[in-house]
Amino acid sequence: MGETLTIAGWVARTRDLAKIKFIVLRDKTGEIQITVKDLGLYPSDGLGREDVIAVTGKAIQSRIANAGIEFFPEKIEVVNKSKQPLPVDISETSQSELETRLNWRFLDFRAPQTRAIFTIQDRLLSTFRGWLTEKGYIEIQPPCIISSASEGGADLFDLPYFEKKAYLAQSPQLYKQMCAISFEKVFTVTPIWRAEKFNTPTHLNEVRQMDIEQAFADDEIVMKVLESVLVDMLRSVKENCPEELKMLNRDLLVPKLPFRRVTYTEAIEMLQRTGEKINWGDDFTKQQEKMMMELIGEQAFFLKDWPAAQKAFYSMPYDDNPEVVHAFDCIYGGIEISSGTQRIHIPKLLRERISKKGLSPENFENYIEAFAYGAPPHAGWSIGLERLTMMVAGKDNIRECCMFPRDRERLVP
Ligand code: ATP
Ligand code: MN
Repeated sequence: MGETLTIAGWVARTRDLAKIKFIVLRDKTGEIQITVKDLGLYPSDGLGREDVIAVTGKAIQSRIANAGIEFFPEKIEVVNKSKQPLPVDISETSQSELETRLNWRFLDFRAPQTRAIFTIQDRLLSTFRGWLTEKGYIEIQPPCIISSASEGGADLFDLPYFEKKAYLAQSPQLYKQMCAISFEKVFTVTPIWRAEKFNTPTHLNEVRQMDIEQAFADDEIVMKVLESVLVDMLRSVKENCPEELKMLNRDLLVPKLPFRRVTYTEAIEMLQRTGEKINWGDDFTKQQEKMMMELIGEQAFFLKDWPAAQKAFYSMPYDDNPEVVHAFDCIYGGIEISSGTQRIHIPKLLRERISKKGLSPENFENYIEAFAYGAPPHAGWSIGLERLTMMVAGKDNIRECCMFPRDRERLVP
């Protein structure tokens, strides 16, 4: 017999036989069967799903119980009752609609598949942070309230800010650049907001981005960083989350290094050959991104050398062809998970490119001025955390991979 201990958790389910009752108790480590032989110990008004209980007793090795262990109680304390019935099915075979699950997210977090998704997300994040910290990148804290658009465009949420108007950051762009031209190698994990009225399975209005920015670097250097950290993140999930992957029926393949580089022009031609209606200068639809994965036959690859018109004003143009910029997307599992560029670090060129986009350089003076005092060449990228989680967990809807998604409809919970 082991020693007496107290375990606490939630009632996952109960089973009554004539002279014996079983309680399956769940906590963060999993489930354990509590075998109640002395029915006098059992709460007189019964137990319901998700009641919180604390059980004092002894754990005994068992060949019949799933966990290889059974728990024999000496005392059962009801800590807090749950309302019944539950509004959402949180069992392993849950049939509840995503909408219902999101409405009752706090309960849905107790469903094993949901826990698996967020355990994987946690692993992705901690590997990302650990990898960059170890390589000498400094974690920076950019502001989320900003005074003007960082990327241009109209997809900003605005908010009153005392006597002024402010915006929610659509990207930490300017701030990571300001940090990189002093700290050299920086990273951040930060929320960003996009006011686009999309309603797609791959877009949220509030996103978490994992970004780096690096001085004395061009696009090719940061692409190498991206593929290396991404492969390590995937490897780490594969090694540390086998149970979670199994729960999600996921056979995670870790792509081989280096990822193939396909130019934008090659990709357009490839799609055109299949009869796809797309012209040089167009962006790829999500459907076309998926097609490309099949045509290229790689789970992960880079699309590089984009038309300037498709990328932000700060993207560094090629010397010999300013219509093309040092920009790349990383496509993983047939969807864009990351974009990056070498940035323009020369104020004069930056002003020209801003004007060329039809924007006013005066609105960006503060930004441009940052590069007037010894700014080295620099480059960076951004990975969408929910997008990546979605691909790793094999989910079709990004909302499943965001704890509290914000979309056109949803602001609660
Ligand atoms: P997309 O073309 O997929 O709409 P984007 O090119 O507008 O994305 P970027 O500005 O390149 O997005 O942002 C970097 C990364 O952040 C994207 O590759 C993606 O992983 C993620 N991301 C951007 N916008 C969203 C969004 N609205 N919802 C979810 N993830 C997003
Ligand atoms: Mn992009």
